Amino acid sequence: MAERLHRFRGGLELPGMKEAATASPIRVMPPPKRIVLPLSQHIGEPAKPRVAPGERVLRGQMVAAAEGVISAAIHASTSGTVVAIEDHLVPHPSGLAAPCIIIDADGRDEAIEPVPLSDWENRDAGEIRERVRDAGIVGLGGAAFPSWIKLSGNRDQPLDTLILNGAECEPCISCDDMLMRERADEVISGARIMLRALHARHCLVAVEDNKPEAAEALQAALAKFADPRIELVIVPSRYPQGGERQLIETLTGREVPHDGLPLDIGIVCHNVATAAAVHRAVVHGEPLTSRIVTVTGGGVAEPCNVEARIGTRMSELIAFCGGYRGDVARLIMGGPMMGFTLRSDDAPVIKASNCLLAGTAEEFAPRRETLPCIRCGACADACPASLLPQMLYWHTRARDFERVQEYDLFDCIECGSCDLVCPSQIPLVSHFRYAKTEIWGKNEERAKADNARRRHEARQARLEREAREQEEKRRRKLEALEKMKSGDAKKAEIAAALERAQKRKEERS
Ligand code: SF4
Ligand code: SF4
Repeated sequence: MAERLHRFRGGLELPGMKEAATASPIRVMPPPKRIVLPLSQHIGEPAKPRVAPGERVLRGQMVAAAEGVISAAIHASTSGTVVAIEDHLVPHPSGLAAPCIIIDADGRDEAIEPVPLSDWENRDAGEIRERVRDAGIVGLGGAAFPSWIKLSGNRDQPLDTLILNGAECEPCISCDDMLMRERADEVISGARIMLRALHARHCLVAVEDNKPEAAEALQAALAKFADPRIELVIVPSRYPQGGERQLIETLTGREVPHDGLPLDIGIVCHNVATAAAVHRAVVHGEPLTSRIVTVTGGGVAEPCNVEARIGTRMSELIAFCGGYRGDVARLIMGGPMMGFTLRSDDAPVIKASNCLLAGTAEEFAPRRETLPCIRCGACADACPASLLPQMLYWHTRARDFERVQEYDLFDCIECGSCDLVCPSQIPLVSHFRYAKTEIWGKNEERAKADNARRRHEARQARLEREAREQEEKRRRKLEALEKMKSGDAKKAEIAAALERAQKRKEERS
């Protein structure tokens, strides 16, 4: 149990900027007229459509199935007709379009018959995982990793602790805070289901000390369930406390191995909203068709938290919150530290959409001119991943991607702390994202080249084998011909001898 808290290295104290959106309860948005469901809104393979244009669908109906080992199913978030399966703008840093299932709502919002797994306490872990998989649940903290895989544990390492992450540390985002305040029972019920699926001994629910209402609600829920395996732990609010590795270190003092997973040290970490989604899928038989999104920033008229259907376009979400106000300089999905700019509000809400931030020019002043690095080390002091951002930056600039990897580029969680403290205004995170993309691209090219080489070698081997076989065939044919010829010669010899004998016989008579 978390007897003593530890402190992760680096990090920053940031203003919360959450008051506006937490001033009112969660608002439930009715289904919009059109739903846009990207086939890839999770980590892993895109889901495979199970419906065709023209087909009528009901809320909760699986419209695309998980494909491959790591993937997640997608469900219709209202009833209506599939009008197209085609490319549509999706919320992604690239600003590109991707395949989506587009549904025109019929306004009836009819749902499939839910099939709860109400006796889950008597079901085995596999059945619970299957339910979570079929409900299309992914990590709702923003990572969107298929949750059923993270509920599978590790045969080589017995699982000790489940951590529920309620440390919503990024400024402006408050969807988890509001969920914990208003639906704490769902979170704790989800934790109990997850404990069963994981065969874990206990669960720590971590909440930052700037969320007293959430902590109070969770405490009341814990008293109601009276499950001694679950404990609420209040952690200091320090960015990025909600980072998985940072939270694990704070709670246990243990570090996740550099190239390993929390599972390697007997820990699994899930977001509180994921736990609530697991509760709904198991206890009520409801697949994931909606999520809470924080809609905030100076550019939105009524900042609040909205439970919106997955697939609702951002423009409609903003309209539901009173529309735009003033000059909106940037529309961001996520928070100001780790979010990314949306090219248009035509992109839909996806499972990973925790926040929509409409920032004014005042809130997002244009970046000042970038100056040379003065080697002050402030970035390294702020880095929660114990990296040397200035070294990463220099080697990225020099395009020395080998060296960048030696400096553990892939341990960078892109938290933006180094960016924020850099006196030279260097956009460090953009450089690190660029370096990662380059390395992934090169690795992909190398993998493609290796595959091509393997294919070429296999083809060569096949051609050589075929040539050998042909040669052998030709040789056998020649041999047969020879034999045949020699057989014919013998026959001719016998015929000639018979002819000679006949002749002699005729001469004598
Ligand atoms: S904070 Fe900026 S100026 Fe200072 S060492 Fe890091 S990159 Fe250089
Ligand atoms: S963005 Fe990366 S390098 Fe910069 S502080 Fe965060 S983890 Fe460290």
